[in-house]
Amino acid sequence: MHPAWLIQKKRDGKELTADEIRDFIRGITRGDVADYQATAFLMATYLRGMTANETVALTEAMLHSGEVYDLSNIPGIKVDKHSTGGVGDKVSIILAPLAAACGVTVPMMAGRGLGHSGGTIDKLEAIPGFQTELSRERFDQQLLSTGCAIIGQSGRIAPADKKLYALRDVTATIECIPLIVASILSKKIAAGVQGLVMDVKCGNGAFMKTPKQAMVLAQTIVKVGRKMGLKARALVTNMNQPLGYSAGNSIEIHESIQILKNETLDDLGSGDLKELTVLLCAHMLELAGRVKTLAEGRKLAHKKLADGSAWAKFQEMVKAQGGSLDSILSPALGLPLAPKSIVYTAKKRGYVTEMDTQALGRLLVDLGGGRRQVTDSVDFGASLIFHNKLGARVAAGDPLVTVHGATEKVGSIPLAARLDDAITVSGTRKPVPKLVFGQY
Ligand code: URA
Repeated sequence: MHPAWLIQKKRDGKELTADEIRDFIRGITRGDVADYQATAFLMATYLRGMTANETVALTEAMLHSGEVYDLSNIPGIKVDKHSTGGVGDKVSIILAPLAAACGVTVPMMAGRGLGHSGGTIDKLEAIPGFQTELSRERFDQQLLSTGCAIIGQSGRIAPADKKLYALRDVTATIECIPLIVASILSKKIAAGVQGLVMDVKCGNGAFMKTPKQAMVLAQTIVKVGRKMGLKARALVTNMNQPLGYSAGNSIEIHESIQILKNETLDDLGSGDLKELTVLLCAHMLELAGRVKTLAEGRKLAHKKLADGSAWAKFQEMVKAQGGSLDSILSPALGLPLAPKSIVYTAKKRGYVTEMDTQALGRLLVDLGGGRRQVTDSVDFGASLIFHNKLGARVAAGDPLVTVHGATEKVGSIPLAARLDDAITVSGTRKPVPKLVFGQY
């Protein structure tokens, strides 16, 4: 079918057949479909949506656009976790070694920062030497020896997704449920996993702003995933404030290490991070058949944090992927923060009632902690440290955020004005949103 006819059919709200979708995706992968045609298809899909059958067909076509890993030589059920993206979301860095320490094999394929949201791959690259591109042989070997590996999406896995994702990022077509579902599931299934736990972020720092949108996405991922033979779960979780006490590449590795070492960070604002990581781990363990109940899974995860085995597993993974052990053993030296820091303080007494999480993520990007363009390099040391999060009671002059950045960046951004807009302190307390909105 001529690409324009398929675009027209979608534009007019008619259902595409699986064959039409497969041919179109094949054309995108081979370069026979021009970027402007692919973009028109994305916008038509954004506006018209897709039926469940179309979404399955799109996922299958994207999955088979490249190599499909067969990990059957590795024993056990292989389970991954994926987040739709947020600010301060460092769960994967802790979760992959934690689940592996609990006896589940985790072939984790992670992404780079996107828009205002950070990416696990960028964060791991803050560890000097850490390689996120592994050959197929090394990936398999590491899964057998260590039980976990975190890699980026190579050009060989779901190349159609790579191409479409880059176009979506610059054409306002990211927030589209069938496109998100096909994008995530195609690369996860291609990487050889049999189980997937999705963390669908919801709130002012997420791509899904309302619980209703997030719930539809969560339910669609589970439904389409199961249709494709995947054991799938999805949680909808809060992104109306950053997760944990920090956002930024080096600082998030630092915070992850503290959790892996089972340090008590509740006072610092990491209680939500630990609670969510343990819950997601429990779901992974249950999906893999390692435990019978979530309560048992939580208990095992806490035990592996407390007895040091999750921290030992993280060190094993860092070493296997070429990362510097010295830098994680002494993060204050090995993962330096950017040189210039300012502390933003509360102007009056009250409660922290609002954190515009997307604005905080954008501020970090402007400090160099993320990219404005794909070709930009990242300043691993740029960071935001949150001293008081939603619900905290503060007095005038109490620290709210410490900002680290390169001297010229800190000097050129109106930090105080941007933080005034992003963080609200009110005289009246407001309820703090729940951490988990739903589980599917
Ligand atoms: N993460 C992905 O991998 N794809 C999307 O479309 C959105 C989030």
